[in-house]
Amino acid sequence: MENNNWINQFEKPLIIGGPCSAESEKQMMTIAEEIDKDYVKVFRAGIWKPRTKPNCFEGVGAIGLNWLKKVKDEYGMMIATEIANANHAKLALEYDVDVLWIGARSTVNPFTVQEIAEALRDTDKIVLVKNPVNPDLDLWIGALERLSGQGIKNLGAIHRGFSTYKKTKYRNNPQWQIALDFKNKLPNIPMICDPSHICGNREGLFDVSQQAFNFEYDGLMIETHCNPDEAWSDAAQQITPARLKEILVDLELRQSDDPDAIYKTGIDNLRHQIDELDSSILDTIAQRMKVANAIGNLKKEHNVAVFQPERWKQIQENAVKAGASLGLSEDFIDKLLQALHQESVAQQNNIMIKKEEKI
Ligand code: PEP
Ligand code: MN
Repeated sequence: MENNNWINQFEKPLIIGGPCSAESEKQMMTIAEEIDKDYVKVFRAGIWKPRTKPNCFEGVGAIGLNWLKKVKDEYGMMIATEIANANHAKLALEYDVDVLWIGARSTVNPFTVQEIAEALRDTDKIVLVKNPVNPDLDLWIGALERLSGQGIKNLGAIHRGFSTYKKTKYRNNPQWQIALDFKNKLPNIPMICDPSHICGNREGLFDVSQQAFNFEYDGLMIETHCNPDEAWSDAAQQITPARLKEILVDLELRQSDDPDAIYKTGIDNLRHQIDELDSSILDTIAQRMKVANAIGNLKKEHNVAVFQPERWKQIQENAVKAGASLGLSEDFIDKLLQALHQESVAQQNNIMIKKEEKI
C-alpha cells in the first residue's frame, strides 16, 4: 500500500458532498447545481442503501448510475457511490464511477470485501473503505489489505464512527483513537472524515469536521440535500448546499508543521518540558507501585484481602476532588486511577499467589 498519491490531485482538503440517497434525476441535478463546485470536488449519492430494518427505502438501484453520470457530464464533478457486492462493483465500473466506497456494514464481512476486491481487480478507480460498524482496527485494515492484494492502488479510508448499544450524543461514536491508530499504522492511506454518520444530526457537524482537521485528516464527506427534512434516508443529518458552504468557509485547516523559527523554538522547548514531566510521572508511579507492593506484603502477613472497596472508594473521591481543583476532569481522573489501581491489585495478587506456591 505504498502509492496512494491520488489525493494529491485535489487541493487539500478533499470535500465529498451530495445526498445520502439518490431519489430522482431531478433531486440529483438540483443538488449538483446548488453545491459550490469550488469546494466540493466529488459528488456522492447512495443508490444501493443498506438499511437496518426491512421495508424501508433501499435505494433506487442501478437507474441511479445514469443520474450520477449526468451529474459528472454536466457539472464536471467526480462521482462516488457505495458498492456492497461484486455486481454493484461491476456496474459502477461500467458507468465510470470515479470513487467507490465500501460501507460500514460491508467492511465487517471479509467475504463481501474479498468479492468486491476481486470484482475491482487492478482498477485505477479510487476505492474508499469505511470503518466497520464495530470498533475493530484490524478488520478495517484487513479490508484495505484485501483490496491492495487485488492490485488496487488508489485506496483511502473513511472514518464514520462506531455503533454503540446505548445512544450517546453521537449516532456513531467517533472513538478518534482508532482512526488515529489507523493513520499511524497506514500513514500513506488518505483519511476522510464522515461527520454526517458520526453525528446523526446537523448541529454537531461543524465541531466534528474541525476536530478532523485538527487531526490533519485529508478530507470530509458530508451529506447534502436541497430539502433535508424530506430526504428519503438520513433526513436528520443532511444539510443544504448553502449550509455546507458556511461550514466549509468557517473551518480552519491545520498544517503538519511550520518552518517558522519562533514556532520551532517554542515547540522544542514545550516538548522538552513534556518529556521531563513524563519521566517524573513514571518515577512517581514506580514509587507508588513499590508502596503498593509493601502493602501487599503486609496484607499477606496478616491474611487480609487484596481488594478493599471502602479504601478504593475513598481514594477515588479524594482524587476527583483534588483533580477538580487542578482543572482535571472527573472522567480523566477516573480512567487514570482505574489504571493505577488495576496494576496495584495485579501486583498485590502476584504477591499473594507466591505465598500459595510456597505452601
Ligand atoms: C452512507 O454513507 O450513506 C452510509 C450508508 O454510510 P455507512 O456505511 O457509514 O453507514
Ligand atoms: Mn446516509
